[in-house]
Amino acid sequence: KISIFWFRRDLRLHDNAGLYHALKSGNKVLPIFIFDKNILDRLDDKRDRRVEFIHQALSDLQQELVALGSSLWVQYSTPEEVFPALLNQFDIESIYTNHDYEKYAQERDDAVREFVNSENVAFHTFKDQVIFEKNEVLSGAGTPYTVFTPYSRKWKEKVNDFYLKPYPTEKYFHQFLNTEPFAMPTLASMGFEAVGASFPSKEVRESIVKNYAEKRDFPAVVGTSRLSVHLRFGTVSIRELARKAQALSETWLNELIWRDFYFNITYHFPHIGQGFAFRKEYDKIRWRNNEAEFKLWCEGKTGYPIVDAGMRELNATGFMHNRVRMIVASFLTKHLLIDWRWGEKYFAKKLLDFDFAANNGGWQWASGSGCDAAPYFRVFNPTLQTQKFDKDLAYIKKWVPELNSFNYPQPIVNHDFARKRVVPVYQEALKAK
Ligand code: FAD
Repeated sequence: KISIFWFRRDLRLHDNAGLYHALKSGNKVLPIFIFDKNILDRLDDKRDRRVEFIHQALSDLQQELVALGSSLWVQYSTPEEVFPALLNQFDIESIYTNHDYEKYAQERDDAVREFVNSENVAFHTFKDQVIFEKNEVLSGAGTPYTVFTPYSRKWKEKVNDFYLKPYPTEKYFHQFLNTEPFAMPTLASMGFEAVGASFPSKEVRESIVKNYAEKRDFPAVVGTSRLSVHLRFGTVSIRELARKAQALSETWLNELIWRDFYFNITYHFPHIGQGFAFRKEYDKIRWRNNEAEFKLWCEGKTGYPIVDAGMRELNATGFMHNRVRMIVASFLTKHLLIDWRWGEKYFAKKLLDFDFAANNGGWQWASGSGCDAAPYFRVFNPTLQTQKFDKDLAYIKKWVPELNSFNYPQPIVNHDFARKRVVPVYQEALKAK
């Protein structure tokens, strides 16, 4: 009998919780990955950088596994089809995998568990993507935190070596099933095309982390780690990063805790996964939802240079600096009074590091509807934000080279006018509570 390890958003061999338990169980382990048609067939851009990233990460894994005399079994299919086929082909005792907290993933895993259990195959799952999950960090009253600061305080009180130590998978690499290399589907065979994107390195640059508190807010400098895509797909271990953060920068550690926080919110408040505002009264806001203005925002043609620079960076690279994400999100919801879900969806399509929990959290924070959100009457002033964070316009000029020419558009809305317009609209909705 063999065991299966099912890779999803944990595409690494080292320090991988579920993989460690699979290898340690005593059976030989066949590692698998499914390019899930339920997800991929919904992507309308066939030059999707995320698919390319995953494909590259799997090719790297494949090389490592082949060097160990094993191989990754990769299918372009659906879990519903793959598991019956696997159970026919191999004599399987157990399936191992890591927890995934998103709605689709939970439903998928419930269905797979039910099916394999009915065939007398065990389904074991483990915490791997976060330091604390589910009910591990609760308030004194036993309820989930909805405000970051007390959550992070409790997180820091609770964390210790036990939660941060690596899983030494390498001790058990001899347990991978020996097999001839399996062929991997190409991007083209799945209907995708390579963009030839270059991805950020997964090395933690210690000099960046050490200076993080001073430099993180300035989009013109590389002052942040750029590890988000690696955290998204698990090509780095969160435990390793948290250990480095503890040693090097409390401010950076706080960002990693925000990530845990939003996963917790997603887990405990499933209504946000169904498209609702965290604070339901915010669903009464009467958005203007002007489609022409939305298009200008998407294209980076609002006439607000910092907003346009951010959107153009996103469109060109799949990345946007966090400070600028906050500015463009505030602009869409507050200045243009467009539903934050439109922005959330656009980011979901474009961001290389797209992650439901962090993206939804960021959007609801900006619109005021989220847990621990900015108060609704606080409206970012793009001009002041520029003076503070891109004083010499280095970031803006990189993405908006026509800034001082006649070709650059006039602002689509006046700032003071927009600020005065948004407040009563929010008040109206919140009064209806
Ligand atoms: P660093 O500043 O080096 O931070 C280290 C890591 O901490 C990040 O890689 C990320 O995993 C985590 N982190 C940092 N800030 C946050 C945060 N506010 N919330 C949750 N985790 C955080 N982040 C995503 O990973 N995916 C998203 O889809 C996403 N959408 C966002 C949407 C909006 C509207 C906003 C305001 C923020 C969003 N963020 C998202 C959070 C943040 O902007 C990115 O994590 C960060 O810019 C990534 O760059 P970095 O890796 O250099 O981060």
